[in-house]
Amino acid sequence: DNAQPKKPSWIRVKAPGGEGYNSTHKILRENNLPTVCEEAGCPNVGECWSRGHATMMIMGEICTRGCTFCNVATGKPSALDAFEPGRVAHAVQKLGLKHVVITSVDRDDLEDGGADHFAQTIRAIRHRSPESTIEILTPDFLKCDPSVLETVVEAKPDVFNHNLETVPGLYPTVRPGARYFHSLRLLQRVKELDPTMFTKSGIMVGLGEDKQGVLQVMDDMRAADIDFLTIGQYLQPTPKHHAVERFVTPEEFKSYEQAAFGKGFLMVSATPLTRSSYHAGDDFERLRTA
Ligand code: SF4
Ligand code: SF4
Repeated sequence: DNAQPKKPSWIRVKAPGGEGYNSTHKILRENNLPTVCEEAGCPNVGECWSRGHATMMIMGEICTRGCTFCNVATGKPSALDAFEPGRVAHAVQKLGLKHVVITSVDRDDLEDGGADHFAQTIRAIRHRSPESTIEILTPDFLKCDPSVLETVVEAKPDVFNHNLETVPGLYPTVRPGARYFHSLRLLQRVKELDPTMFTKSGIMVGLGEDKQGVLQVMDDMRAADIDFLTIGQYLQPTPKHHAVERFVTPEEFKSYEQAAFGKGFLMVSATPLTRSSYHAGDDFERLRTA
């Protein structure tokens, strides 16, 4: 039975448009930069783009993994584009971003998983926009030598984000090919390599997890010294993707937020429309000036 629970009123969002939205769109198009905002059909695109905030996706639009919640195409990716770090840096400068989020597809085909390309992109942005803070949302580098992580950390992003996505029990159906404890350990190693770097992770809810499972993930994250947490409602990109098991109420999100602050996270975003990069800049700014 494919019947999906009806979208509740708190999920509806405004259709994108307007001047700010259009200029962000134009700069991204001119620089040939795909965004996760579009690829994932993110419900916040109208709001984020009109404020000049977008999450750029590097290393192509084809992923070597096939997570069942994700709308990115699976297949054999094309070769890396050596000019891409420069194009990203140019776009960041043109958009005048105070905080930029860079993510990528998973590149199990590359020996270093794309670590060096990430590092080059970070350095190119720093060079052109020294005032911008940089957040990276990385793949898990599961098949790489553990030393590739150092390449990324040495480029000194301000925030190192890697999503756990869901509770461990749902990995086989939601995130096949990934390992829960590998991802946790990755973030813990980032902190060990550079204790001044902020680490961040997130999960989606509504995939079939229970509350106890969500609280356990928070404890695991804190044990791995993760600083920032995002929790948002999973939405099904197409009927072929993982089903929405339920819509978590705003009250339940609120209870997750309170629990998370109680467990010691420095920054928490837990609302139905929270995405990994939603208001990332504002939150970070607030924390830096606190
Ligand atoms: Fe893009 Fe993130 Fe905003 Fe969604 S929340 S539109 S993915 S920047
Ligand atoms: Fe999507 Fe990332 Fe999974 Fe690839 S690894 S399918 S981009 S969520």
